[in-house]
Amino acid sequence: MTGMRAAVLEAAGKVALQERPVPEPGPAEVLVQVAAVGTCGSDVHYYEHGRIGEFVLESPLVLGHEPSGTVIGSGPGASRHRIGQRVSLEPGVPDFTCAQCLAGRYNLCPRMRFFGTPPFDGAFCEYVVIREEFAHPVPDSLSDDAAALIEPLSVGMWACRKARVAPGTRVLVTGAGPVGLLCLQAALAFGGTEVVVTDVNPRRLRLARDLGATATLDVRETRLADAAVEPDVLLECSGHPAATGEAIRAVGRAGRVVLVGMGGDEVPLPLSHVQTRELEVTGTFRYANTWPDAIALATARRVDLDALVTGHYGLADVEGALTAGTRDPDAVKVVVRPQE
Ligand SMILES: [Zn+2]
Repeated sequence: MTGMRAAVLEAAGKVALQERPVPEPGPAEVLVQVAAVGTCGSDVHYYEHGRIGEFVLESPLVLGHEPSGTVIGSGPGASRHRIGQRVSLEPGVPDFTCAQCLAGRYNLCPRMRFFGTPPFDGAFCEYVVIREEFAHPVPDSLSDDAAALIEPLSVGMWACRKARVAPGTRVLVTGAGPVGLLCLQAALAFGGTEVVVTDVNPRRLRLARDLGATATLDVRETRLADAAVEPDVLLECSGHPAATGEAIRAVGRAGRVVLVGMGGDEVPLPLSHVQTRELEVTGTFRYANTWPDAIALATARRVDLDALVTGHYGLADVEGALTAGTRDPDAVKVVVRPQE
């Protein structure tokens, strides 16, 4: 086994299947045969625009940062896994030595090597290598898709931790895309009692209700300001600047606002509302220390990851996976299966 197939983003709007060497696991690394890779809004953004903010595609790149698979080899000194162990990959490996890493905030490491983010290749390919600590074992009861979606679940859990969602917390989730639906499920698992979800897509709102939302609001029909919602916590997942300002205005006293969605660079902030109610407003960037808990929640069926999957694509049709959302507004999460 020396060669493998990889779906390579050669330029914005152009993905081609290439033959690449199978990567060699280095010290403390394992070689993983990739089983499933969730497709993320950021993959779609790189495909469409060739950049996200300061991250710019300057040479061909393999996208995909939500992988699951099976350990099939190990490098020098790697000992945590037996060959055949199924794993969910945490796709960003920090330097372990900087001030942020030493403070436990390794998601803020300035030297993070993150899958599918220039210049680091991702997992839309048959095999990847990763530091063994970041290949988290999963039980056989978890599907390959679910093991892949531990990554976006981690985004939801990190948002809930930043917002200090606890038993009895009232939560508003704006946007019922995959991340919004995972913030919803994480908020419920953290003990949130009222969890209201807004969107403009009836099918996504129905899915939110199926997954446990206590109420949903179609903001094309009813404005949030008219809906008598006063949450303790806002998890903003729409990335929509106007919707963000309106949602912040709904948050109650001493509430917490977590900006999860990546929308416009500038958002109008209702400052007097933030001031007089002492709201905390924070961003989130990926996650830290979430994988074991996320795997435990998924294994205990406290969250349903498979329910989000609306389509599968083989490695030769990564372009189909990346355009599924624009072709079908009801698509939620599509998964690439690199062995197909
Ligand atoms: Zn670091």
